[in-house]
This record gives sequence, C-alpha cells and structure tokens, in this order.
Amino acid sequence: MTKRTQVAIIGSGPAGLLLGQLLLKAGIDNVILERHTREHVLGRIRAGVLEQGTVGLIDEAGCGRRMHREGLIHHGIELSLRGQRHRIDFNDLVGKSVMVYGQTEVTRDLMDARAGIGAPTEYEALNVTPSGYDGTQPIVSYLKDGAAHELGCDFIAGCDGFHGVSRHSVPESALTVFERVYPFGWLGVLADVRPLSHELIYVNHARGFALCSMRSPTRSRYYIQCDASERPGHWPDDRFWEELRRRLDPEAGAQLATGPSVEESIAPLRSFVAGPMRFGRLFLAGDAAHIVPPTGAKGLNLAASDVHYLAEGLIAHYRSGSDAGLNAYSARALARVWKAERFSWWMTSLLHKFSDSGAFGERIQLAELEYLVGSRAAATALAENYVGLPF
Ligand SMILES: Cc1cc2nc3c(=O)[nH]c(=O)nc-3n(C[C@H](O)[C@H](O)[C@H](O)COP(=O)(O)OP(=O)(O)OC[C@H]3O[C@@H](n4cnc5c(N)ncnc54)[C@H](O)[C@@H]3O)c2cc1C
Repeated sequence: MTKRTQVAIIGSGPAGLLLGQLLLKAGIDNVILERHTREHVLGRIRAGVLEQGTVGLIDEAGCGRRMHREGLIHHGIELSLRGQRHRIDFNDLVGKSVMVYGQTEVTRDLMDARAGIGAPTEYEALNVTPSGYDGTQPIVSYLKDGAAHELGCDFIAGCDGFHGVSRHSVPESALTVFERVYPFGWLGVLADVRPLSHELIYVNHARGFALCSMRSPTRSRYYIQCDASERPGHWPDDRFWEELRRRLDPEAGAQLATGPSVEESIAPLRSFVAGPMRFGRLFLAGDAAHIVPPTGAKGLNLAASDVHYLAEGLIAHYRSGSDAGLNAYSARALARVWKAERFSWWMTSLLHKFSDSGAFGERIQLAELEYLVGSRAAATALAENYVGLPF
C-alpha cells in the first residue's frame, strides 16, 4: 500500500520526535516509522541533562509543561579529585544553568503530544528502507503486521540512532567516518534512593571514574567506569555500591544512600562522527550521524541542535521556497557537533583512568584538574561548554 507525507522520519527517539513536533507546529505533515514498540522506546534509560537550548526547543515544540514542573535546575557541578570536592558554579561563571530531566520523560512528553493531535507513528515498522533520495521522489518502504508498505515523501529524516538503517543506506564511499573507541565503559545503576547531592558529582579516582547523578529528588543514577568486557550480571547491587563508595570522598561515601537497582546497564564509550549529514533528500540527525561518550552529557543535546537546524531548513523550504537552510544544514550541524565532540573527549580524558597512560599521564591529569578548579578562566571554559554552546 502506498501512502504519502511531506517528511518521512525514521526513528522515534528524541531527534525524530522533536523534529516531528516542530514540523507539525509549522503545518508540515510527517510520519514517524519506528522499529520497536512505544513501551520499548520508553523503557530505555539514557540521558538526563538538558542544555538551555534543548529546553527552549522542547518549549518551542509545545511540550515543556511537565519538564518545567518536574525538572531540576542545576546551577553547577562538583568535581572530586584527591578525595576532595570542588564546585564549578555555572551561574557565577557564565550566568546559565542546565535542567535535569530524564530522556525517557522527554520522549514520553513528545509521544503524548504527538498522539494527542493524532499525528501518525508506525511502531513495529520492520525492514525500513529509504530509497530514491538522490532524486526528487524519495520512498521509504517497510513491513507492518506482515504487509508491505511504501511511504512516498519530499524528504527523509534519518533519526534512527547509531545502529539505524539511514546512514547504512548511503554508499560507503560517500561518507567520511571519524572514530575513537575507548577501552572502558560505564556501568550504570538506577535506584529509588535519594540522590547523594543536589548536583552532579564527577569523580576522578585512582580506581576509575564515577558519576553521581539523578533523575528526580527520589531517583538516583550512578555510574562507575568499568572494563569494556564487563557484563551487568557480574555486578550484584552490593558489589556496585561498595565499588562506588570506594571512589567517593569520605563524606560523600558516608552519605551515600543505597538500595535495590531498578535498572542496570553497561554503555561502551565511543566518539564517532560521519559526514556529510545530507545526501540529496536524506538528512541524518542525532546519533545516526554522531556519538559522544556520555561524560559531557552532550548526546541528547546534539540531537536537539541538529533538529533545530533541520527544522529551520525544512520550514523555510515549505514557507518561502528557500533551500538555503537545507543546503547549509550539514555544515552548520557538523560545526557544532565537532565542538561537542571535542568537549566530550576532553572531559573523558580528564576524568577516566587510562591503563596505558602510566604515572606521567596520571600526574598530568591531576595537574589539569587542579588548574581547572583553581583558575576562573579554565573553569569558565568548562562551564561554557557544559551548559551548551549557542545553536
Ligand atoms: C546506554 C546509553 C546511555 C546514554 N547516556 C547518556 C547520558 O547520560 N547523557 C547524554 O547526553 N546522552 C546519553 N546517551 C546518548 C543519548 O541517549 C543519545 O544521544 C540520544 O538518544 C540520541 O537520540 P536520537 O533520537 O538521535 O537516537 P536514539 O535515541 O537512538 O533513537 C533512535 C530511534 O530509532 C529507532 N530505530 C533504529 N533503527 C531503526 C530502523 N531500522 N527502523 C526504524 N526505527 C529504527 C530506534 O529504535 C530508536 O527509537 C546515552 C546513550 C546510551 C545508548
């Protein structure tokens, strides 16, 4: 069966949903094709820190009400080194803050808004295949409930994450890929216990990095650096809490509230950029084109900035017939992506234990951290990037 829409969006993660909503607000119809169920997408525990630009975009999409009610405004972070904590005060340094609000909640709000106006999302769409995008009549074919479908469209937005089909549909020779895979991962635990602190604590420790984060005043998210080959099953709750406590300063260790994990997962750490982000009438956005290690809390925020540039380009195309925004999309998005890649790589290098860097590498890392917490200029550079560079 053949259907038609203006923009076919592949993937119902934050990038696809936000793009869909911004386009609907501008009167541009779109269909989202998602290979999983709604419940599966909502069950993925991922990012939690939103830059002000991302918050603004969610507001622009008309989906910010619950976020402003339940999200936590953070005016700084703490860095723990040599067993002592030092605060980086974003408000004082750059006059900005970030919002802690889980990716699952962002996704739920966007999905609910979409369902509320009856905009179409095809969940469990299998074998999604984009084609014809190098011409004027792109098509996305897929299987749903065993039947074959074709969706004709003006443009395809590939918002289908790192393992999605969109980037893989492009001939390899048309893509340039830049990649760094780190030799460790993050073991993450979600638990219904009060957070250790009202702000995030980033820990540099001889046993490895740790991060104390949260999703709400009663739900905490903790991470410890682990070997890339580790499996969550190797880490019963007691072992996790004991290892986390060993990496914290004594005061934090004593205050840490523990409890049964609600979710446990291991995320590999990778820096990855594929460019360009446009191939004829196919545009890549979010993790489909780039991945950052989560240390700088940039993944979801980069998906949002891509969507901002892409939505602007598409809206100008339909409103005024100007393709200047679409033509500039890849260069504009990549310019910001590379700055966030640099920041995420730098935060990762600064805070993790690298087994091959030796005693010299460890001393350099500590010297840089001490410079950072002792220099207003250095702390300002961290704060400026953490709260998010302008779109
Ligand atoms: C375990 C983990 C932890 C993370 N933690 C953080 C964090 O703490 N901070 C941070 O900023 N970022 C974090 N990230 C990154 C952040 O979650 C992503 O950057 C963000 O989800 C990107 O959104 P997206 O919409 O581009 O991609 P995704 O969220 O990956 O969404 C892509 C969607 O496309 C769908 N899809 C894929 N293939 C197909 C197909 N063939 N057909 C149809 N649909 C398809 C997928 O099911 C998915 O719903 C984490 C990522 C992971 C994996």
